[in-house]
Amino acid sequence: MRLNLTALPGDGVGPEVTDEALRVLETIAEVFGHQFNITRKPIGGAALLASKDPLPADTLQACLGSGAVLLGAVGGPAFDNFPSHLRPESGLLRLRRELGVFANLRPALCFAGLEDCSPLRAEVVRGTDVLIVRELLGGIYFGEPRSTQGSPGNRVAIDTMRYSEAEIERIARVAFELARSRRRKVTSVDKANVLDCSRLWREVVTRAGQQYSDVKLSHMYVDAAAMALVARPADFDVVLTENMFGDILSDQAGAVVGSLGMLGSASIGGAVGLFEPVHGSAPDIAGQGIANPVGAILAAAMLLRYSFKLETEAVCVESAVGGMLAKGFRTKDLAKAGESVLSTSAMGQKVAEAVRERAKPAGQKAAS
Ligand code: NAD
Repeated sequence: MRLNLTALPGDGVGPEVTDEALRVLETIAEVFGHQFNITRKPIGGAALLASKDPLPADTLQACLGSGAVLLGAVGGPAFDNFPSHLRPESGLLRLRRELGVFANLRPALCFAGLEDCSPLRAEVVRGTDVLIVRELLGGIYFGEPRSTQGSPGNRVAIDTMRYSEAEIERIARVAFELARSRRRKVTSVDKANVLDCSRLWREVVTRAGQQYSDVKLSHMYVDAAAMALVARPADFDVVLTENMFGDILSDQAGAVVGSLGMLGSASIGGAVGLFEPVHGSAPDIAGQGIANPVGAILAAAMLLRYSFKLETEAVCVESAVGGMLAKGFRTKDLAKAGESVLSTSAMGQKVAEAVRERAKPAGQKAAS
């Protein structure tokens, strides 16, 4: 297959981890006989410095014209005092909206051998394999009216949480469909004891669920879900929730399984899929070659699965990552005292080598 891809390395550790994800994708192309045409474009702070726009028109056009977008991260302290429309993060929010990606998928998987990286006891976190399905384009992050009014000391701020039945139904369907390829359990998270939006959410999700009788649906209030996610994370399969609750719960799920550097994400449902590690630009470690590239590499695996429908190739990348971790290869964020530490590029190389090894025919494997 010939596949067009736009890479947006961004800021901080973004370019470092994106390089490793692209290295793994190029290895996949080589061993499975595909061809990736990769176009690199600036976004975020890098684009602001170059053209005073965190999402230049040229970058957006390239994204809209490609089969998938792989993003590193945006942001950094140099831009913290910029007005909100000129902050690197506003470029990313605009990109998500322009691509129409309403479904954000954030898997949190506890890899064998990494149970000790969790702040929770190993026996609590072992076996955790949660997929958070977060609605990405609605809710309180986008609802109108929003404003801050009045004079200092007497100001009043307003945000609006808003959901339509159609918005709820389309994200619910994504969650039910995904549950069918997993353990067939959906936990829908809301605050239906307090919020009108949540009462509508629960009603519409329940109605959509009637068409998926093979999937077990349950509902939880967000406060109870937050507690259960740390008390018994391995019980969850697919967690379906709205924008703000999903933002919070998905970071929490990330912390449960260890380093933030391990998590990839996919934003789908629109014209073009957007794939990125969950972490930010990590300015505290940028430029040192020590960032963990696994989150970006797992985002690349999701790109293969969801945008290019290359399931075998996606599984190959995921099992290469699992294999490297099981063998004890660690970046700095994962290593315990006394363990040897791989650089960002050395970890990327290890995963690429493992991809090559896994893709070999069985006979060749035995001979090598
Ligand atoms: P962050 O995710 O960048 O970093 C949080 C902590 O995790 C830091 O200690 C960092 O060193 C560590 N970390 C992050 N990625 C890592 C990796 N790959 N390997 C090892 N350790 C890693 O969050 P932050 O510090 O709150 O934000 C920094 C900047 O990133 C801010 O400007 C923020 O707005 C931006 N941000 C961007 C995105 C995005 O691009 N999607 C997401 C979150 C934050």
